[in-house]
Amino acid sequence: MPELPEVQTVVNTLAPRILAARIDRVEVFRDDIIHPCGFDLPGNLTGRIVREITRRGKRIVFTLDNAQRFYIHLGMTGRLTLERDTPLPKHTHLILHTKTQQVRFRDPRRFGGVFWLGTDSNHDTMQDSMGPEPMLIRPNQLAQRLSKTTRAVKNALLDQHVLAGLGNIYVDESLFEARIHPLTPSNQLILEQIRRLNRAIKLTLRRALRHRGSTLQDYVDAEGGAGGFQKLHRVYDRAGEPCRACRHPIERIVLGGRSTCFCPKCQRR
Ligand SMILES: [Zn+2]
Repeated sequence: MPELPEVQTVVNTLAPRILAARIDRVEVFRDDIIHPCGFDLPGNLTGRIVREITRRGKRIVFTLDNAQRFYIHLGMTGRLTLERDTPLPKHTHLILHTKTQQVRFRDPRRFGGVFWLGTDSNHDTMQDSMGPEPMLIRPNQLAQRLSKTTRAVKNALLDQHVLAGLGNIYVDESLFEARIHPLTPSNQLILEQIRRLNRAIKLTLRRALRHRGSTLQDYVDAEGGAGGFQKLHRVYDRAGEPCRACRHPIERIVLGGRSTCFCPKCQRR
């Protein structure tokens, strides 16, 4: 699933090509990807100019020239790519046509979608429910958020209400970097561990951004380019392989239905 570095890379590759472009035509092939259900997306987008494309958590947020906003979530298998007249692949659900190119949203498993926000801040689900951005959070803020829960730190960090934008890959990689066992109850982390975790999250995300994210199966940026960070993963998807720091085999456990990889020697309980 695309996480913060992948979503940011999509934004970075999409924005320079789409900003100030007019949406001339909108094609919707599956309207169940549009939320709220029954919303007239073509009627609200046709003729509008894209003023801004930003990221919040794992969402790609579009702001139009009339201040209306919507976001696209890539879910598990979603892709948002720029194309010209290339053949239309299966599972393409939406096309935004500009004068010279197409922005295509394709999502075989359909966990993603297009979510209309409008301008009404009361309906702005962005602020009320989503946690802070991990690149901006301060150690005392992180400490405060983690102190409120007894859940395993791995699960707490996956929760978008605690912190926005992290998923399985970057939580596992950050916990390794911070030398914290994924099952540690969040409220039992000492301040020194929180400081390490705060630094580890930022460092891991910065490295991943530099390598344009991780491509495991589906992810590509808006220009169709794959990420390169998967080659540098130290624990994620490396069960049984030797730890890059101590050579002990990486262990895999299932936590809350999700696979979790860690080094039992570097990340002691
Ligand atoms: Zn190790």
